[in-house]
Formats: sequence, C-alpha cells, structure tokens
Amino acid sequence: MSDDKEIVSASTVAIVGAGQAGAEVATLLRQHRHQGRIILFGEESFLPYMRPPLSKAYLAGEIGADALIYKAQAAYDKAEVELRLGSRVDAIARGAKQLLLDSGEDVAFDKLVIATGGRARKLDVPGAGLGNIFYLRAIADVELLRPQLCAGRRLVIVGGGYVGLEVAAVAVKRGLKVTVLEGAPRVLARVTAPEVSAFYERFHRAAGVEIRTGVTVIGFTADSSGAAVGAVQCGDGLEIPADFVLVGIGLAPNTELAEAAGLATDGGIIVDAFSRSSDPDIFAIGDCAIHAEHGFLQRKIRLESVPNALEQARAAAAFIAGKPVPAAVAPWFWSDQYDLKLQMAGLSDGYDKLAIRGSTKGSSFIAFYLREGRVIAADAINRPSEFMASKRLIGDRIKASAAELADEAVSLKFLIAAAAPV
Ligand code: FAD
Repeated sequence: MSDDKEIVSASTVAIVGAGQAGAEVATLLRQHRHQGRIILFGEESFLPYMRPPLSKAYLAGEIGADALIYKAQAAYDKAEVELRLGSRVDAIARGAKQLLLDSGEDVAFDKLVIATGGRARKLDVPGAGLGNIFYLRAIADVELLRPQLCAGRRLVIVGGGYVGLEVAAVAVKRGLKVTVLEGAPRVLARVTAPEVSAFYERFHRAAGVEIRTGVTVIGFTADSSGAAVGAVQCGDGLEIPADFVLVGIGLAPNTELAEAAGLATDGGIIVDAFSRSSDPDIFAIGDCAIHAEHGFLQRKIRLESVPNALEQARAAAAFIAGKPVPAAVAPWFWSDQYDLKLQMAGLSDGYDKLAIRGSTKGSSFIAFYLREGRVIAADAINRPSEFMASKRLIGDRIKASAAELADEAVSLKFLIAAAAPV
C-alpha cells in the first residue's frame, strides 16, 4: 500500500450494489490510494451487511441487526466513500459512461463495478402466489419469516441445500414441526459426498426434522381462508399440510443491468481473474459474476460465497489501482447447523476417492476428496484447526494417500511439510 510506484488515479469509480462485495471494493480502493470519487449505490436502505447469519443466528434471534453490519458508517466516512443507500441504478449508459438512477438522476463514472448479487430463485408452480410462502435473501425477508417461527406450527421447507437445512435447524429448535423436501435423492447432493449427506440427514432426523428426498413439489393448495398456503403438493401424490413454507432452491444472479448494457453474460456477468467484464472499464464481482476461468479451479464457474465475493473485490480494487493481482485462491464456504460447524474448501465434483478422518457417527470428522492422488476438496465438521491445514493441502495441490488422510495419528501438518513442491 505504501509503494511509491503505485498508480494513483483521480477518476470516479461507481459501484452498483452495496453488499459485502461492493462495500469491500469501495473501501479497498481508498486503501490503494485511489484519489477520485468512490460512489457506492445500494437499493436496500441498510448499511452493507453480512447475509450468512440471516439463516442462522439472526433468524434465531441470537444476534441483532447491528451485528450484521459489515463495516461501520465510520469506515465509509474515513475512506470518503459516498454511500447512496436506498438508491437503485436502473440503467448503465456505457457510451456516455453514466448511470441512470431510479430518482431520474444521471451519475457519470470513469470505472464501474457491478456488485448486484442475486435474488432467491422463485418456484414457479400453481399456488406459488399464495400467502405464507417465504424466501430468504435479505433482512426484509427475515422480518417476515421470523414471526412465523412459533412452537407447534408446521413449516415445510422446499430445498435441502444449505439455506433450507439451516432454517430447519433453527425452526426445529424452536419447537416447530419441520419437513424438508428435496428433489435430489439426498440433501446437499450438489456439494458433498453421499456419506456427508447421510450424516446431515441423520442429524436432522434425530433433532426431529422430517426429511423427504426425491420429491418434486408440483403446487401449493390454499387453506380454508383461500389466501394462504395450506398444503404442499408433491409429484408422487402426497399432500403435506403446512402453516407456512420456505422455498430455498438457489439464486438467480442479478445480471439484467449488465445484459441491457450489452456486456457478455452466461449465467452471470463474465469476468476474468481481475474481475474485468467484456468492457475494459467495467468490472463485476460477487454473486452476479461468473469466472470465465477460475484462477484456481481453471474452469468456468459462478461461486456464491462471501470469500469469493471478497476475493473478487480485492482483484477489482487492485486492478483499478494499477496493481493487478489475479483471484486464484481455492474456494471455501461454511454452514452452521445445530452445534455443527461445517467448513468446506475446494470443489469435490469429479473426485475418485474419499477419505474420512474421524467418524461420521460422531459430530467431528473431515471428508477428504481426492482426484489422481491429490486432495481437491474437504468438508470439515467441527474441526477448525484441521480445516486450516486442509485448505493448505488443497491450495498447494498436495499429493497424499487416502490411508494417511484417514489416519488420525498422521498429522495434516506433517503431510504438508513432507509434500514435494508441485
Ligand atoms: P449481495 O450480498 O446480494 O449484495 C448485492 C446488493 O446489491 C444487494 O443489497 C442488492 O439489493 C443490491 N442491488 C442489486 N441490484 C441493484 C441495483 N440495480 N441498484 C442498486 N443496488 C442493487 N456465504 C458464505 O460464504 N457462507 C455462508 O454461510 C452463507 N450463508 C448464506 C445464507 C443466506 C441466507 C444467504 C442469502 C446467503 C448466504 N451466503 C453464504 C452467500 C453470501 O451471503 C453471498 O455469496 C454474498 O452475500 C454475496 O455478496 P454480494 O455483495 O455479491 O451480493
């Protein structure tokens, strides 16, 4: 940061979207001594906040809204970031280098960072418009959902991914009758091995959650009021009574602004390792962006995680400041359910061997995924310090045998130290 050769620029950087990615790039730019204006537009009225607790401690009422705030107002003041909250950007005029706001105002930019995130994917089936069907993406969604969480009520969750399972854990602890419906043959099927899915299914069932897999939701029927949901209809003819429903079936990236402006998109705004879009003056970061070729995974992928959002923000800020550093770190993620802290690194698809360190019968183990003798991913449950070592094993593409990884007597640090450089 104190490098005298750093290029300082007086240009205006506008950022659309005040989530964690937008907030991070805004403040980092100033740390990189960007001299010009930095304007951060966010359509929500809150200071940029962290979404992960929305399905965990915040939903459970264990923390208040203040604890969600990513950076205090003072951080933006100090960095002289112009925060324009409650302000929606309606269009990007690329030729004129202007943003058009919902207020009718035009704002000029030299560089633009799109950090518009995504929205909950809607379930498009008959009855989807009935009352008491909820989604979970923003603070406003939690404000609607939380009052529903009263003991004895029947909650049906559509989707056995992280968000659905985290909400199930919170709700069953509160004494609700919770059913999770998952279309795939097992929960977390896209991201974990069958052994890890089975562990989570067992844990949830033991806590009182009913889990039904291989179930397609085909519609909702109304209760006696005719206005609110009363049951969930499944493809196999089953009707599951519900007082309310949470749908957690993934995210649709907010790419419309970029598409209308003619930027290249393909299930996300296509960016390179420096977060550059197809327009050299426009960057895209976080959930709305898709890596044309991820620096570590070396494939096209869109990642939905805080670590990815922050890394892409770092890459964009560094590039704009004239000190390009590509995003190339192995992806990682976490999920909290009950007293289980799951931390995952790498991507497990395409693994040819699985090694389990510890026992899936307890509540502390690591699943290592190997491909051609190298560790490509790990799911660590309640093993935070070994997770750090696992990240090294994955990041450094270290060769290890499944037997060594599974052997608790062999320290992971030893495997790292013993590995020959790749
Ligand atoms: P967002 O946080 O979505 O922010 C984008 C912002 O842009 C929004 O505020 C939006 O309103 C605004 N915006 C959009 N369009 C416009 C416009 N035209 N004008 C102005 N503003 C606009 N990740 C993890 O790593 N671990 C977890 O445990 C985890 N749990 C999660 C639990 C839940 C319930 C959810 C919803 C997400 C979770 N995630 C988790 C994912 C993580 O929160 C996201 O990957 C991260 O928030 C992405 O940040 P972002 O800044 O790209 O997008």
